[in-house]
Amino acid sequence: METIAAIATPVGEGAIGIVRLSGPEAVAIAGRVFRGRRSLDSVASHTLHLGELVDEGGVAFDEALVAVMRAPRSYTGEDTVELYCHGGMALLDRLLQRLLQVGARAAEPGEFTKRAFLNGRIDLAQAEAVIDLVRARSPKGLELAASQLKGRLSERIRAEREELLALLAHVQAVIDYPEEGLVELETEELKQRVTAVLGRIDQLLATAEAGRMYQDGIRLGIVGRPNVGKSSLMNAFLQEERAIVTDVAGTTRDVIEARALLAGIPFTLFDTAGLRESTDPVERIGVQRSEAVIDTVDLILLVLDGSVPLSREDREAFAIAARDGGTERLLVALNKSDLPARVSPAELRELLGDLPVVRVSAKSGVGLEALAKAAAELVAQAPPIASDAVVVRRARHKKALEEARRSLVRARQTLMHDLRAELIGVDLQEALALLGEVTGESVSEAVIERIFAEFCVGK
Ligand code: GDP
Repeated sequence: METIAAIATPVGEGAIGIVRLSGPEAVAIAGRVFRGRRSLDSVASHTLHLGELVDEGGVAFDEALVAVMRAPRSYTGEDTVELYCHGGMALLDRLLQRLLQVGARAAEPGEFTKRAFLNGRIDLAQAEAVIDLVRARSPKGLELAASQLKGRLSERIRAEREELLALLAHVQAVIDYPEEGLVELETEELKQRVTAVLGRIDQLLATAEAGRMYQDGIRLGIVGRPNVGKSSLMNAFLQEERAIVTDVAGTTRDVIEARALLAGIPFTLFDTAGLRESTDPVERIGVQRSEAVIDTVDLILLVLDGSVPLSREDREAFAIAARDGGTERLLVALNKSDLPARVSPAELRELLGDLPVVRVSAKSGVGLEALAKAAAELVAQAPPIASDAVVVRRARHKKALEEARRSLVRARQTLMHDLRAELIGVDLQEALALLGEVTGESVSEAVIERIFAEFCVGK
């Protein structure tokens, strides 16, 4: 096993920068560039040492604190050394180059965490939680990633796998001694236990939509005719929280993208050009762009102006917004609620049927929180998640659980009809393997590669 090294802190200037080493030679290699009071070979594990970093000629180029963590009690499960020095790019690069000169190899993205996985320190779902923790955009996303990192999802999956193994043992006995057959009592018990596993898998799957929403957020496209207050609404959203506004392609008629956190949910908002048929070529490009945005968002927010009667343009905007996605992903904001209302409920119903309508004022901020909650309900169709819940957040996990579910449904059907033990065995085996994909017990090298490729270098 080679010893790997990488800069672990972000690119740029910082108070401190960290370079990390992991592998059998970690302590020896660090010792070749570090000069302290004692040789690193002789220090106890999990201790910190102050000294100097020295170049090829023995000349010091920075001060550093060095942490030594010996196997197996380290992040990777291998001997690990972390060097804390000042946080300049040239300096960190110099240190890394020195370590590479004296025996280390540059780490690949995610290689530290991959080693932790390969050494059995964490399972695959926990490794993914490390990425999610780093990327979390909201307190809720952070909480859920932390719970997964602690192994809560993995525990649940493992418990189901053990149950399936026990069931398989029963079935295997029947395959081995066919003359005995599956007696009725056993069939009944097997059926009940398979059904119970199915029920628990369904519970996990029910959390998936909400889990994804807190992790990835909601992509919300804001549409409506000009002057209803789309830009104002977007700005009001942003004032709730620090946010990044990016002008996607230059002119005011283009799509503006911004991120904001509201009601604990990360939103990516797309403010589109006014939706209406136009003969102005520039405006037409803007309209085409906003129609393209509509195709990619989770939800469309149609903004109407409640302070003036509905117009033909409002009806056109509604028609365009409802055209492709249908009305399932459509939410309506009746803006300018601070002004006297000029749109009657009957008029709204006539245009919108029973689509959800939230009264808001971009000017005063009233109704924004309710709007965010209505959006969350439409996307996740689930109540908010309790903080101790085990939640499925990754599409990979959801897919494996859904496929395991299908195998179990087949196994249950066989149990109800022709009782061929071999068939039941095959389906249970398959479900077992699929659940094992979540935690990494049974997963292809290609999947592992793909997961760790998401990481940054040094993690
Ligand atoms: P857009 O063309 O749909 O993006 O609309 P704007 O955001 O540019 O708003 C059009 C006009 O309506 C501006 O003069 C805003 O100040 C005003 N406006 C927007 N929202 C509100 C609101 O909630 N209350 C009031 N009174 N005026 C608003």
